[in-house]
Amino acid sequence: MKKIAIYPGSFDPITNGHIDLIKRASKLFNTVIIGITQNSKKSAFLSINDRIESVNTALLGIDNIKVLSFNTLLVDFAKAQNAQIILRGLRAVSDFEYEFQLSGMNKHLNPNIETLFMTPAEQYANISSSLVREILSLGGDISAFVPNNVEKLLKTKI
Ligand code: ADP
Repeated sequence: MKKIAIYPGSFDPITNGHIDLIKRASKLFNTVIIGITQNSKKSAFLSINDRIESVNTALLGIDNIKVLSFNTLLVDFAKAQNAQIILRGLRAVSDFEYEFQLSGMNKHLNPNIETLFMTPAEQYANISSSLVREILSLGGDISAFVPNNVEKLLKTKI
């Protein structure tokens, strides 16, 4: 059976931490689907189209990935894509409580889909999309946190 994993998130913007995780995951699964969602609790900085395009560009050269957006329940999206695995990243203990709750509720909604957690390389563990946006808005250097194409795109938005 082909192992298909969904890596869902806002990716607003995609960071070097997300990319590190996706590269690792692409070696473990047949296909990794990056599922870009509009998180209802957060207002988006980049449009869905900008995010899809910038994620595709940032991941050029990794062949077994697909970038899609969705606005349904995550487990329904996973089922529709024949994915058996939801992949989430854990940076620090602070991520754990929310991720634990989310995985528990998703398991309740569809017990056939497993959530797996991965950690990024140490140098990426402090990166978050929200801090990238904040640093950008204050004129700081974000080049260490996001790929080149994303840095260029973000600079056009301020
Ligand atoms: P969400 O809004 O769903 O939290 P994000 O785009 O912020 O979406 O994150 C998607 C996933 O990637 C989450 O599981 C998050 O914990 C993880 N993640 C975010 N930043 C990093 C990072 N620097 N390293 C590893 N995982 C990360």
